[in-house]
Amino acid sequence: MSARAQLAGARRLVVKVGSSSLTSLDGGLCSDRLDAVVDALAARCAGGTQVVLVSSGAIAAGLAPLGLTRRPRDLATQQAAASVGQLLLAHAYSASFARYGQPVGQVLLTADDMIRRAHYRNAQRTLERLLGLGVLPVVNENDTVATDEIRVGDNDRLAALVAHLIGAEGLVLLSDVDGLYDGDPRKPGSTMIAEVDAPADLAAVEIARPGVGSLGRGGMATKITAAGMASASGIAVLLAAAEDVAAALEAGEAGPKVGTAFRPSGRRMSARRFWLRHAAHVRGRLDLDDGAVAAVLRRRRSLLAAGIHGLSGDFVAGDVVDLVGPSGVVVARGVVGYDATELPALIGRRSDELPPEQRREVVHADDLVPLIDS
Ligand code: GLU
Repeated sequence: MSARAQLAGARRLVVKVGSSSLTSLDGGLCSDRLDAVVDALAARCAGGTQVVLVSSGAIAAGLAPLGLTRRPRDLATQQAAASVGQLLLAHAYSASFARYGQPVGQVLLTADDMIRRAHYRNAQRTLERLLGLGVLPVVNENDTVATDEIRVGDNDRLAALVAHLIGAEGLVLLSDVDGLYDGDPRKPGSTMIAEVDAPADLAAVEIARPGVGSLGRGGMATKITAAGMASASGIAVLLAAAEDVAAALEAGEAGPKVGTAFRPSGRRMSARRFWLRHAAHVRGRLDLDDGAVAAVLRRRRSLLAAGIHGLSGDFVAGDVVDLVGPSGVVVARGVVGYDATELPALIGRRSDELPPEQRREVVHADDLVPLIDS
């Protein structure tokens, strides 16, 4: 099925809208633009699609009320702006959706909710229940408590994580650019790419990634990352302009006629693997010899102590570590079964040389996700 057909037929959809599509520097929130997004979302919901909205704009909406003329650099002022702005944003959505009698709920996530598996399930349960109750969840990162080290950081990635979390078939990323270009979009001669079939198609657009805008955090790079994450897990993705929101959410047979569509290239990965690959915080690394790399990548075996010749990091059993091949490339990621302090006595030794209680795998095959093709 084409990406556009999958988007049109999606029963579950995540729609992300960027700060600059909802706010202006001097005026704060623009209710006209917000209403236009809500009109299109309400229409799609009325057709029976369950929609989760990931909306940026908390920090941007808080600037004008605080008399700030530009996005602050320091975290504390960003958090203060987010605190003021998130309330305005939530109120604006709730009032706007009320025009359609559509209940909305606010869900503020921290990176921890995506990084820690127990929290991940909790967030999943909450979103499921909201959708089951006919509520449209409005999601943002909980900027007021997130610190730089633990932030998801940009809502494009957050939206991809949420799309996977709820088993969405489609992800629509709306911003002030109408798609991906094969050159600098401001220069004549560059054309928009309508379909991206494989990540390799993106090699040519390397130069066409404008930097971070003045209001939000994400640029084209974060959108491409998010689109790659989602499409590799079976989710069709559309990058489109927020102005084209009605067309982007079109449920007609051929699907949306705007933006850049990313063909879903892989099958849905298990939540555990998706989490390991994209969301987990990596606490250390294990250095593998060639035999161990082949065993985990090609034969999908567990990692045993014998194939490890070095380690670094201050991890404990249950943490996530990178598995690094002899050339220094991270080949896989997994949940380690031992503390960093236990491993030096075990590595490089065959199982039959170890006491029985230390013969278990260092990383079990079920807890391991390859990051490169074997
Ligand atoms: N969470 C931030 C906000 O609402 C936006 C992050 C982003 O722009 O991607 O202001």
